[in-house]
Amino acid sequence: MNYIKKSPWILHYDGSSCNGCDIEVLACLTPLYDVERFGIINTGNPKHADILLITGGINEQNADVVRQLYEQMPTPKAVIAIGACAITGGIFKECYNILGGVDKVIPVDVYIPGCAASPESIIDGVVKALELL
Ligand code: SF4
Repeated sequence: MNYIKKSPWILHYDGSSCNGCDIEVLACLTPLYDVERFGIINTGNPKHADILLITGGINEQNADVVRQLYEQMPTPKAVIAIGACAITGGIFKECYNILGGVDKVIPVDVYIPGCAASPESIIDGVVKALELL
């Protein structure tokens, strides 16, 4: 089995959301929470990413994008669904084009509840994902 031997790099994708959870993910990167001090780097390239952070639900338009991002990531990899929308579709669940949570299209390893999810719980989720890697 392959294990990562370096600091975890994350890829963040915002699906169909209100941007509330999206902003909480960005807060983790600000000096207040400063996840970079743990070596956690935000990358824009799925081929460099170990952990995929997804906020927001899956809809007809982003389903293929999410699948492609996941498939481009090297193994081992982990997926974290952040917030109620990423888990079930949340408040958008009944909308005409919403398919549901992230696990409708790719496997999810860690679920972080909340509306919005807090930066502390997001960091905790990354630590849990590390245990899987
Ligand atoms: S869970 Fe709440 S805060 Fe997060 S994207 Fe959905 S509606 Fe916004």
